[in-house]
Amino acid sequence: MRIAAALTAGLMLSSLALTATAGPATAAPITKVPLTETAVTGAVVTEAAQAVEVTTAAQFTAVAGKRKTVALTFDDGPSKYTPQILDILRRNNVKATFCMLGNNVGPYRATARRVVREGHRLCNHSRNHPDFRKLSTAAARSQVKYTQSKIKSVTGRSPKVFRFPYGSSNTRTRAVVRNEGLRILGWTVDTRDWERPGSATITKRAVNNTRPGGVVLMHDGGGNRSQTVASLNNTIRKLKAKGYTFVLA
Ligand SMILES: [Zn+2]
Repeated sequence: MRIAAALTAGLMLSSLALTATAGPATAAPITKVPLTETAVTGAVVTEAAQAVEVTTAAQFTAVAGKRKTVALTFDDGPSKYTPQILDILRRNNVKATFCMLGNNVGPYRATARRVVREGHRLCNHSRNHPDFRKLSTAAARSQVKYTQSKIKSVTGRSPKVFRFPYGSSNTRTRAVVRNEGLRILGWTVDTRDWERPGSATITKRAVNNTRPGGVVLMHDGGGNRSQTVASLNNTIRKLKAKGYTFVLA
């Protein structure tokens, strides 16, 4: 029982790290997500620390969140680039998380369905990418609800996770999202692929900055994503070579 509790605590801890507020998309290349919910985190750490006493080395690794896992996430789609990304993921037998804009789902219905059919995870990324800190509570709720119902009507599935555009949120809008039953997803590695720095640079940023439990932010929509497409196979290959396995965010 204590081992189970320890593993749960470990998962909670990594989950918390991802639910805290991330910096805006214009921040430094690597956005370390701060833990803001210190009171809750403190309790989790204590619980995990107690349980560690009775765990084996392998279990300790899991508790400490040191498993070499990484989650690939793609924002602002679906778009005409998404099928190419899906092809690469399929060839490599990798599952990823797609944070979709409600307004892009209608024009790319078949692609949205393919994301689900091929085992990837759906994520709500708002209707049209506003800065949620500037929205009224009602407007924020409308952004979340519209995209939930659009994705549900097109794919038959409801996302369980939400990512704030620009990682921009406040207490009020985080409450809106949680009241809709959604978990908030951040990231640990910002490739800034939208700068179009060259596919080799996108791969380098993703691979060099990934740590165990990492969440890599890339974009399949919102502009010309040919460099992101061109970088992806090498990113996966190099992360695999470093011993990483791919998990859903
Ligand atoms: Zn976005």
